[in-house]
Order: sequence, then structure tokens, then C-alpha cells
Amino acid sequence: MTHQDVAAALRRRLADVQADIARLETATTQPLSPKFADQSGDLEALATNEGREVQQIHEADQIVAALARIEAGHYGVCDMCGAEIAPARLAALPTATRCIACAA
Ligand SMILES: [Zn+2]
Repeated sequence: MTHQDVAAALRRRLADVQADIARLETATTQPLSPKFADQSGDLEALATNEGREVQQIHEADQIVAALARIEAGHYGVCDMCGAEIAPARLAALPTATRCIACAA
């Protein structure tokens, strides 16, 4: 995969994540059920959705950062030691910023 292929895949993933964030944002701003008996379920769903939204926002940030590294021409280079990040690692984790040795 070239870096341009990676960028295209990351942009698709970013669009999905952003759509999910928008959906979760709508879900978490709904009013609680009028019936008290339903509210504990609502609150549980709210906590789940908010947790998920935080994760998705974090992922979106990482994708944006990875796209910036591709643009800048230093994608796949370890932040810590400057070594090349193994292609297998990038394939598994395209937003990785550190080589396996530095990530440990
Ligand atoms: Zn490293």
C-alpha cells in the first residue's frame, strides 16, 4: 500500500467516525423519558454513548494527525527514535506514531 492508499483509507474511516460522532451527539442530547421507570435505562444508554463518543473523537484526532503526517511526508516514521515503523504494524494500526520498540 502506498501512503496515498493509506490516506484514502484513513479519510474513509474518518468520514465514518465523524458520522458516528454526529449520531452519538444527537443521541446524548435527547431528553430523558418522561416515565421515571424508563430513566435508569436512558441514563445507562447515555453513559455508554458518551463513552463511545469520547473514543470516537479520540480516533478522529488520531486519523487527522496521521493524515497530516502523510501530507508532511513523515508518515511511518517513529516519533521517538526516528526509525521506520514496520509496515505490518502500520497495516494493523495505521495511526501508529511509534515503532514497536518505542510503543512498548
Ligand atoms: Zn521508535
